[in-house]
Amino acid sequence: CKGFEVNHLVKQYANADKPVLDDISFKVEHGSVLVVLGPSGSGKSTLLRTIAGLEPIQGGTISINNQVIDAGKPGTERAGRSDRSSELRTRIGMVFQSYDLFPNKTVLGNITMAPVLVQKRDKSEVEAEAIRLLGRVGLADRKDSWPHELSGGQRQRVAICRALILHPEVLLLDEITAALDPEMVREVLDVVLELAKSGQTMLIVTHEMQFARAIADHIILLDGGRIVEESYDAQAFFEH
Ligand code: ADP
Ligand code: ADP
Repeated sequence: CKGFEVNHLVKQYANADKPVLDDISFKVEHGSVLVVLGPSGSGKSTLLRTIAGLEPIQGGTISINNQVIDAGKPGTERAGRSDRSSELRTRIGMVFQSYDLFPNKTVLGNITMAPVLVQKRDKSEVEAEAIRLLGRVGLADRKDSWPHELSGGQRQRVAICRALILHPEVLLLDEITAALDPEMVREVLDVVLELAKSGQTMLIVTHEMQFARAIADHIILLDGGRIVEESYDAQAFFEH
């Protein structure tokens, strides 16, 4: 499949008596958007973290364009992260609920650090791209600002730019508006809607149901670490 795929994924935390994710399989076609729904504690965050390579998995596989990037290894419950290479890590981008910008770097410094240090890309080319990305999210005039000078919504838009500059094949968004004041939610969700239109493959966890309905090509509903419902028709899904 061209796109992103999870097959029979099993994730268990140390000291837990059963897996938190139990035999999860789904595909996300290139250019499409999957919304992951489910009650608190159902495993949504853990699913995104395993896909991002922040947590080792104990069974199954995670693949991009048919290339396996992570395969389950029993006995890794206590390991810190998956053992994916940094090159593979940069193929998946993630933005979290709490904007974790580096406080001692400017907006431009935050966005350009990984492509320059990890991907060894040319600094002036990366800076030019960062400025273009800031323009796309409505922050063209904030490149020299410090994180503490920005609103929460502005910081999340910078965090999105920081992920996008790595050209991730998949972008994971974990409740990125949950910590924002209501008046800032719209400006962030509008950026994500634009990304979807431009064909960015994404996996999104959100409590914004109107937004979920508008953006989803595909929905999975998790409960107790399993997929209990799956739909390719967001309108029909949200009607019941
Ligand atoms: P959701 O995002 O749907 O709220 P989570 O993935 O955060 O669900 O959590 C799923 C379950 O895994 C919960 O029971 C939670 O307490 C547990 N859990 C999450 N992170 C850890 C961890 N680092 N160690 C142990 N258990 C965890
Ligand atoms: P979320 O639902 O957004 O993941 P939580 O409050 O469930 O937020 O978790 C916050 C942090 O605590 C996460 O890093 C998660 O992995 C960790 N965590 C959650 N539950 C547990 C747990 N039972 N044991 C250890 N760490 C946990």
